Amino acid sequence: MTEPTADAPTGRGAFRELPSPMIAVFVVVVASALALVVGGLVTTTAEPSVGIAALGALGLIALGVLHTELATGIERVRRRVAHASYFDLSSVWTFSGALVLPPALAGVVVIGIYSHLWWRVWRPAGAALYRHVYTTATVVLAAGAAGVIVTPELLTGIAGVEPLLHVTGFGALLLAMAAYMLVNQMLVALALSLTSGRIVAWRAVLGDGDDLVLEGATLCLAMLTALTALHQVALVPLVLPPLLVLHRAVLIRQLEERANTDAKTGLLTATAWRGRALRAVARSRRRDEAVAVLILDLDHFKSVNDGYGHLAGDEVLTAVAEAVSAQVRDVDPVGRFGGEEFVVLLPGLPYGDPGYELAHAAGERIRSTVRELVVDAEAPGGPLTITDLSVSVGVALAGSDGDTLDELLQIADHALYAAKRGGRNQVRLGRALSG
Ligand code: GH3
Ligand code: MG
Ligand code: MG
Repeated sequence: MTEPTADAPTGRGAFRELPSPMIAVFVVVVASALALVVGGLVTTTAEPSVGIAALGALGLIALGVLHTELATGIERVRRRVAHASYFDLSSVWTFSGALVLPPALAGVVVIGIYSHLWWRVWRPAGAALYRHVYTTATVVLAAGAAGVIVTPELLTGIAGVEPLLHVTGFGALLLAMAAYMLVNQMLVALALSLTSGRIVAWRAVLGDGDDLVLEGATLCLAMLTALTALHQVALVPLVLPPLLVLHRAVLIRQLEERANTDAKTGLLTATAWRGRALRAVARSRRRDEAVAVLILDLDHFKSVNDGYGHLAGDEVLTAVAEAVSAQVRDVDPVGRFGGEEFVVLLPGLPYGDPGYELAHAAGERIRSTVRELVVDAEAPGGPLTITDLSVSVGVALAGSDGDTLDELLQIADHALYAAKRGGRNQVRLGRALSG
């Protein structure tokens, strides 16, 4: 489920400091969720089957609590790997509750599991209580919306053998899944927009494609859990092991990301850059487009280290890495080649002179940006400002300078050394070498 992370725009500010529209939305959302649960409980207790349903709700809460306890081990490793927020797959229990239980009891399941999550995960992390209360209320309402589409009676029908019900029932299940995700995410987006004072991009709320796939997979497991609960309730705990494996999949993704990222600069590592560059070269060749390779080396970087210390040198490396990334498109792979050397691949260029002109212009932009950098750094003697940095750049273009990535790297490297010999702080083109 979507819960704003600690560094999301809502921040950790006090409830009182929230903009008044947000306070109004908070009151409406929380009151609606409470009305759904309390009002529903009053009417549900009159029904004869309430005893079984209440047992079911308790069972789901117990499984949710057990799940959180088992998952904290995985989460601990995950937090060591990345500054990640808690990854919460509790939708398995809350969504299956929404499908098999009356809305009020489904709400009780949400409140039970989210109270435990608060106590075990969010409170120790220093999160703001009102935010967790809001999220809990959005999930109660999301479960309510799903429960309107798939009632326990309909689900029993789906579990039966009527073929027609199968088709309509399956459609209803998918619709309930969409409603569950939409209600939660739209209410979270609304809160983020109101507190930050700007419209929050859908992507920021939805997360990336992987997050959506993960949430979808969790909801699929929830559907299976719900159907199992109707037929063989004793088998429901069997959902836990695949769920924990699914949780580990998030960890693997983050480990992969970390392995590809240079810790000091946040750029791609040399190996990761090479992988991306090889794919980009192959793609460009299929499209009959050229690629350019730029190799950059900071000028007299040793004197920065010698003059201000290695930590200040590191700050310069980070600032240069940011400057380089800012001067190229997001899709252009930028890597740290080694020490104070960087490498950039520019795909989708025209062959010949027009390609050279574009690649040269990119190299010039990088060179002049680095030249104007002002880096604030901490040194043993106090804070200092480092300026007068410069970088030498070697450029090679596919077609004119070679066809394979290795050929281009070699020519760009030659061009870089020509730039160094030529007095540094300049961009040299590979083709110019032979001329
Ligand atoms: P040139 O203009 O010829 O490139 O001179 P230079 O001083 O930059 O060249 P050289 O290759 O001799 O020195 C590179 C220096 O980069 C040496 C090394 O101490 C420093 N360096 C490499 N990696 C790091 C790093 O991660 N942090 C810091 N602070 N310095 C690094
Ligand atoms: Mg060097
Ligand atoms: Mg250097």
